[in-house]
Parts: sequence; structure tokens; C-alpha cells
Amino acid sequence: MSLKVTILGSGTSTGVPVLGCQCQICGSNSERNMRLRASIMLEYDHGLRIVIDTGTDFRQQMLRAKVSHLQYVLYTHLHADHIHGFDDLRGFYFNGNQPITCFLDADYANELKTRFHYAFENTGYLGGRPDIRLTELPKDFGIFQVENCPIETMQLPHGNVLTNAFRFGSFAYATDFKSFPSDKRAKWRGKIDTMVASGLRWRDHKTHSTIQETIDLFEDLQVRRGIITHLNHEIDYDLDSKKLPGNVELAFDGMQILI
Ligand SMILES: [Zn+2]
Ligand SMILES: [Zn+2]
Ligand SMILES: [Zn+2]
Repeated sequence: MSLKVTILGSGTSTGVPVLGCQCQICGSNSERNMRLRASIMLEYDHGLRIVIDTGTDFRQQMLRAKVSHLQYVLYTHLHADHIHGFDDLRGFYFNGNQPITCFLDADYANELKTRFHYAFENTGYLGGRPDIRLTELPKDFGIFQVENCPIETMQLPHGNVLTNAFRFGSFAYATDFKSFPSDKRAKWRGKIDTMVASGLRWRDHKTHSTIQETIDLFEDLQVRRGIITHLNHEIDYDLDSKKLPGNVELAFDGMQILI
């Protein structure tokens, strides 16, 4: 079973360029310095398609990747840059008339339903509502299935919330974590060939791992190919790529990874 992963967005919560910012990166003409909010899409050769997070740029990302059909979304956590495109799932529902299954942490279901209450309850408005099926993710190292594809999840600390990381066989995605506790590393060490993980910038940050911390994580987990995403506007694709070890790359929007 082969898998194609597309980086739909490689940027931090503001996106890059940051509105109003006059810095060199935000004014750069390089497409590799233009980053939509962090999200990836997985496409299996048997037709299964999964998107992780529907952030603020979700609609634009779906148009750019020419996606005409979507039935499965996994959510990492509920920060705006990861869910505020939720409303645009409506388009796929109206065009396919198939329910859309959204997997998220049990602790986050009520919050999502509060923020997008009109999608889940009858408000009296006569317009159509999408059929969104919220499905709870298992807790640490629980395995769930999407169309016979086994996916393992674990929760990682991200400031005062938890974010869900996912492993699809030899591929893993982890975004928005401050640390990766050692007991959790032990469970995934040696199992991952290719990993996309966040690393905000080189300087320390209160709730995100730095690029160096993520490089160290890849090494510790024995990842063969590591790709760093959720980058902010301090990172220049060309200059900062040269500072990375040979098996580590910076993500860019539109990047495709074959597993
Ligand atoms: Zn984020
Ligand atoms: Zn800037
Ligand atoms: Zn976050």
C-alpha cells in the first residue's frame, strides 16, 4: 500500500507573510517562504484520502490541491490555525452528499460543537447543514481504523493543552508540541521511516519545540527522513535549509512525500 503525503500548509498560526509585517522573509518573493497554516493530506493508492486539520486556510488549500472529495478529517487540537476552516467542509458535503467523519480528542468535542454550533443543531435557518460525524480519538497509543487503515495516536504537551500526533505505519505527523516525553519516545523509536513534525524557529518558545529540538527528536526516534513544519517568519527556506543535517528538510507548501 503506497501513500502520498502533501504538505498543504507549512506555516505557524499567523501564516507567512504575517499581516502588516515588513521583515525580509514576509517581503520575500520566494514561494518557499510563503506558508499557509499547518495541515497535511494523505492519499493512499486504494483511494483513501485523509486531511489533518482544517485551519484558517483550508478552503484555499483544497482549491490549490484540486481536491474534489473529502470524507475524513483528523484533528490535532483546537487552536484557530488548526480548525477555523471547519465551516468549509460544507462544500464537500453539499457536493458529495456523504457524511464527513471528523476524528478528535474526546475532550475537544464539546468545544468544537460550541464554536460551530450551527453545524450540529437546528438554528431555525432554512439553509442546509452538513452531516458531520464526530468520532472520538483513542487516548495514548490507541489504534483506530479509517477504512481498514490503522492509525496510532498519542497526546503531546503544547502549553496548557494537548495535541494529538498520529502514526500511519512508517509515517508520522506531530505538530504543535513543546516536548515529546521520553516514555512516549520509547513507544515510537525505530518505528518511523519518515516524519513531519513542527519546529517553530531556532529561538526558544514557550509552547512549541524549536527547530533544533525537533532535529534532536528525529535523531532520538531514529527517523530516516525528517521534515520540519509549522515554521514562522524568522525562517528563510534557502538559508536555513543549509543549517540542517543531511536527513532533515524544511517543509514547504505543496511539498509531496512518497512513502
Ligand atoms: Zn498551530
Ligand atoms: Zn515577517
Ligand atoms: Zn497550537
